[in-house]
Amino acid sequence: MKKKLIAGNWKMNGSFATNEALVRAILPGVAGGGCTVAVCVPAPYLAQVNMLRTMTELQLGAQDVSVHEQGAFTGEVSAAMLKEFLVRYVIVGHSERRQYHGETDALVADKAKAALAAGITPIVCVGETLAEREAGKTEEVVKRQMAAVIHTNGHCISEIAVAYEPVWAIGTGKTATPEQAQQVHALLRAQLKAATEHSERVHILYGGSMNAGNAQALLAQPDIDGGLIGGASLKAEDFLKIVAAAR
Ligand code: PEP
Repeated sequence: MKKKLIAGNWKMNGSFATNEALVRAILPGVAGGGCTVAVCVPAPYLAQVNMLRTMTELQLGAQDVSVHEQGAFTGEVSAAMLKEFLVRYVIVGHSERRQYHGETDALVADKAKAALAAGITPIVCVGETLAEREAGKTEEVVKRQMAAVIHTNGHCISEIAVAYEPVWAIGTGKTATPEQAQQVHALLRAQLKAATEHSERVHILYGGSMNAGNAQALLAQPDIDGGLIGGASLKAEDFLKIVAAAR
């Protein structure tokens, strides 16, 4: 059985002082294996966090990547640049980027491709809004988002990670029930299975108000291979409780 993956998404939070305190507080709880733990930090802090985690098991992640390799793309960060900081994971297609930056399914798929080409595992986020869920469109939406990534990435699709993040559960304190989450994870797994014989390799994470109290029940579901954690990843004690639940 593959190890679970717990990835913190710090979003646009942090400072030199708070990052150092947070990383130092989580490092002891990350040691000892059992599950893979990563923190996806704001780009300006990659160097700092990379240094703080040196010689530890904590993996480094970023929150976005450009589809372009280099050139006149002001403000963008390439996959090759992330790789220089030993970034292992990059979140692509987070709902906040789809919503506030107009990222389309096709762009997200291209970002996943750029990450893979640099040897970085993209954590591809998919998920429906509340209106889409209430209209009975959850399956249609997540399948469409996933299909774009499968189409663009072909046989490399087994090298990605996926995060099912219902938009209505992100930062709201409302969590999908373990059954609701498992239902979507199972259909994502089936979609991956139809695309690659190595679908079992793909970590399908749940994200959306996962916390110390609900992590265990979510992580016990057969197709939930870990979590993408926003708010709770900024509190060492809470984050480590989730890590412990994944062991
Ligand atoms: C996220 O932003 O990826 C996320 C899951 O946030 P939260 O855990 O705060 O809902």
